[in-house]
Order: sequence, then structure tokens, then C-alpha cells
Amino acid sequence: MSYEIATLRGDGIGPEIIDQSVKALDAALRIFPNVQMNFTYLDGGADYYARTGQVAPDNTWKEMAAADAILFGSMGHPEIRMPDGTEVQGHFIVKARKTLDLYAGIRPIKSYPGARGVDPNAEVDLVLVRESTEGLFASFGGGAQIGDDVFADMMIVTRKGTDRVSRYALELARTRRGRPSDGTQLVTCVDKANIFRSLAFFRQVFDEVATEYPDISTDHALVDSFSMLMMQHPERYDVLVTENMFGDILSDLAAALVGGLGLAPSGDIGEDHAMFQPAHGSAPDIAGQDRANPVATIVSARMMLEWLAARHDDDNLRKAADLIERSVIATMAEGQRTVDLDGDLTCSQFGDAVAATITRLGAEL
Ligand code: NAD
Ligand code: MN
Repeated sequence: MSYEIATLRGDGIGPEIIDQSVKALDAALRIFPNVQMNFTYLDGGADYYARTGQVAPDNTWKEMAAADAILFGSMGHPEIRMPDGTEVQGHFIVKARKTLDLYAGIRPIKSYPGARGVDPNAEVDLVLVRESTEGLFASFGGGAQIGDDVFADMMIVTRKGTDRVSRYALELARTRRGRPSDGTQLVTCVDKANIFRSLAFFRQVFDEVATEYPDISTDHALVDSFSMLMMQHPERYDVLVTENMFGDILSDLAAALVGGLGLAPSGDIGEDHAMFQPAHGSAPDIAGQDRANPVATIVSARMMLEWLAARHDDDNLRKAADLIERSVIATMAEGQRTVDLDGDLTCSQFGDAVAATITRLGAEL
């Protein structure tokens, strides 16, 4: 099988981390020669905007819609702004999520060997499912302005949007081992149903959908106290489902449980398209220094292979995905790490190390 991958390196550390994930993919696909992957590199982002006045060329949108999957680094530069004062990256990413209908933001957070989070003894293996097409991001690019002193963005929650993301979370829970504390397959709806009508409705629709999944335990939590409970007792959580903005914040917070954003992958999934990128941004503070942690991007590429494998029933891709995951774990277990995890490898050295592990473990298959 052959797959077309629309690839955006983007800004900041984006190019550095994408190059490591392509290294890992190339190494894994050498083990499975029946699978081919063509990477088409596309323009777009803050640097591109500064040069051209456009967020991305038309060709980028066309290629993304036509590709089998999208692999994305990161975008954005805090100083490069649109006329409305917002940054360029949202005009790319939020637009991509809306136009390709990538409604489920899948953000797994789990411990990797040798990486310590805020509580080094915590058992963490949770997945945050972020609704990604509505919520507080619904009016993005629009909103309201009254004069020069009043601005508004509106929270939109629909039955369709909540139904499908709830269903995604419940289906996902069926495929997992359950929460670390006792193995219960649990979906926690994180909302603010005590205050906002829109989020009381989110909870109501979640509860309605959950009745179709009697085998999965469900629970609710209010986002404010939940953010404390998740930090204190991450082992009590399995799958979380939440509104767009809450999901954005909680996924970065959850990354602190396992050692930081360099270990936080993501997939933006829809019915017909999917985009895979680390949950973090372009890290301008470390860009161009070859010191970013590429694990989040390599694991996002692994998620891309799993998604393609399920969609095309391609067992070789499934095996390649598994090989990449085992190789990241094995490499880190040998003590090879980047500086954010108190290691001494550069981004590209770590990428080389993972590729070497893939080649070694792949030869044993
Ligand atoms: P950020 O995620 O870029 O960085 C936050 C902190 O985490 C920084 O100290 C950074 O050095 C560190 N970090 C992030 N990824 C890392 C990695 N792989 N390895 C080691 N350290 C890492 O968030 P920010 O600083 O708030 O935003 C920076 C820029 O990124 C802004 O322009 C923002 O708009 C953009 N952004 C883009 C995306 C995206 O492309 N999807 C997402 C979030 C933010
Ligand atoms: Mn974010």
C-alpha cells in the first residue's frame, strides 16, 4: 500500500521535530517494504505569513484535503500577528480543524521510562478527548466587536458536536485497559455544568450517549476542581472528554504529569481526514538550537500509522506503529534522553537513536 502524507514543518522547532519523526517513519518502513509513504512538504505558518501576507498557499489546503493523512510540526511566532491582533497559527490550525471537520482532539498522556513528572511515583495513562470544532473556538475569526473597547467570543455547544465527541471517547475507552488504579474503563466528562447552560447541555448529551455504552463506567467533574484532582490522582482517570478550550488547557497541564510537553502527542481526527501533531507549540525559546524533544512528534506519527492501519486494514502499518512505540520506550529505557528530561542528547541525536533502535528491533521481527 502507498500513502500520501501532507507534511507541514511549520515554524520554530517544527522543522527540527518533523525531521526526527520522518527519520523514525523511514526506519520503520524499511522493515515493512510493502508499505510506501510519500511525504509532500507544504508551506504555511507565521514565517510564511511574514514573507507573503498569506497564512498558507492554496496548494497547501488542496494537498491537505487530498492526502491520506497530515503530519504537522508546529506553527506560530508570538511577534508575528494578524491585523486583528491574533497570531497566525490559529488561522491555520483552527481553520484546518473546521474545514476538514477534525472534531476529536486525541491527546494521550502516559509515563515513559526515565521521564519524571511533578509526582515521580504517579501512574499515568490517560487520554484527553478534546472537542475541536466548536466550544469557545466556534466563533474564531468572527466574534463580536463593539467600538474599540468591547470584544466577545461565544461558546457554542451543539447536540451533533457533543454527541460525536462523546461517542468517540466511549468507543476509545472500550479499546483501553482502563484506569491505572483499578482497571475500570471510565470516561469522565469534564465540564462546568453548574454555571453554563451550554456546558450543562454538553453533560446532558454525554449522559444520553453513555446509556448506549452500559459496559463503560462514566463520571462527571467540574473543570476547576478537576484540574487539581487530575494532578493529585492521575491514576483515577482513563478517558476524559471535554469542551475545546478546556481540552486545550488541560492537555498541557496533564503533560506536566509525565515530564512536559515534549512527551505530549496528539491526533486531530475526523470522519474523512486526520492531522497528527505534538500537543505543544513552536517553542520559540529553544527553536533553532537542536534541543527540542521530538518524542511527542514521533509518537504522533505512530498514532498516524495506527489511524491509517485501522482505516485501510493494513496490518503492516499496525506492526510499524507498534515497532515505533516499542523503540521510543526502549531508547528512553537505555537512558537516552533530550535535555528537557535531564538527558544530554540533541534533538537530532535522539532521532538518530530512535531510528537505530527501530532498525535493531525491526531486524528481530
Ligand atoms: P509552547 O508549547 O511552544 O512552549 C511552552 C514551553 O514548553 C516552552 O518553554 C518550550 O520550550 C517548551 N516545549 C514545548 N515543546 C517542547 C519540546 N518538544 N521539547 C522541549 N521543550 C518544549 O507554547 P507557548 O510558548 O505558549 O507558544 C509558543 C508559540 O507556539 C506561540 O506562537 C503559539 O501561538 C504557538 N502554538 C502553536 C501550536 C501549534 O502549532 N499547534 C500550539 C500551541 C501554541
Ligand atoms: Mn494548546
